[in-house]
Amino acid sequence: MQSHRQRLDRYLEKQLDSSKKQIKLMLAQKQVQVDGKCCVDGQVLINQFSRIEVAGKLLPHQTPVYIMLNKPAGVVCATVDDEHETVLDLLPTDLAATPGLHIAGRLDRFSTGLVLLTNDGRWSRQLSSPQHKVSKHYRVTAANNITAEYAPAFAEGMYFAFEGITTQPVAFTSLDDKVADLVLLEGRYHQIKRMFGRFRNPVVNLHRYKIGPYELPEGLPEGQHLVMDLTFQ
Ligand code: URA
Repeated sequence: MQSHRQRLDRYLEKQLDSSKKQIKLMLAQKQVQVDGKCCVDGQVLINQFSRIEVAGKLLPHQTPVYIMLNKPAGVVCATVDDEHETVLDLLPTDLAATPGLHIAGRLDRFSTGLVLLTNDGRWSRQLSSPQHKVSKHYRVTAANNITAEYAPAFAEGMYFAFEGITTQPVAFTSLDDKVADLVLLEGRYHQIKRMFGRFRNPVVNLHRYKIGPYELPEGLPEGQHLVMDLTFQ
């Protein structure tokens, strides 16, 4: 979803059905507030979440929503699906109906753990686009033993012919014969399964527990969510 950035004066012209001259006057007369502060500059960029008041009257705006969900296996990371339960089906109906609600970084159907949802496209892009290199933390259980060759191979990166890319370095920590913690800086399609596939070692369990600064709280049961209060907006 786009973040709908636009100039304050253009927005006011449309919203108040007023001329450029009328808007200039309102601004000069200090009648306009943006996010609680008086604004006289019509060129200021606002978005769909900005709180605009004109002569004390609040204009329509959206409230940003940030959700952390503990996805169980079998649920799909999609907003609609004809066959399977989706992550939106796990939310209360009114929250799931938030306009523009979308997933910031998907998990496969049988992967579990942290899924972030929002209606704020800027926030989700920052978390999920490979350029931003936001860390994604996973615990992986494999079918066969993990050998000493894995960590250097994951750190070096693997060439994915389909996308024509080499994966970013993955931090790989073995925890047990078949269990490892991985930190990825991107989220390519089935990335972890494909990387284990190079060793002919199927992934039997894949759990994401952290994305950037957002960590799944230990006490949050599978299928449950939290609405986060992110006051940086
Ligand atoms: N890598 C995968 O293979 N699957 C996921 O769900 C996430 C990362």
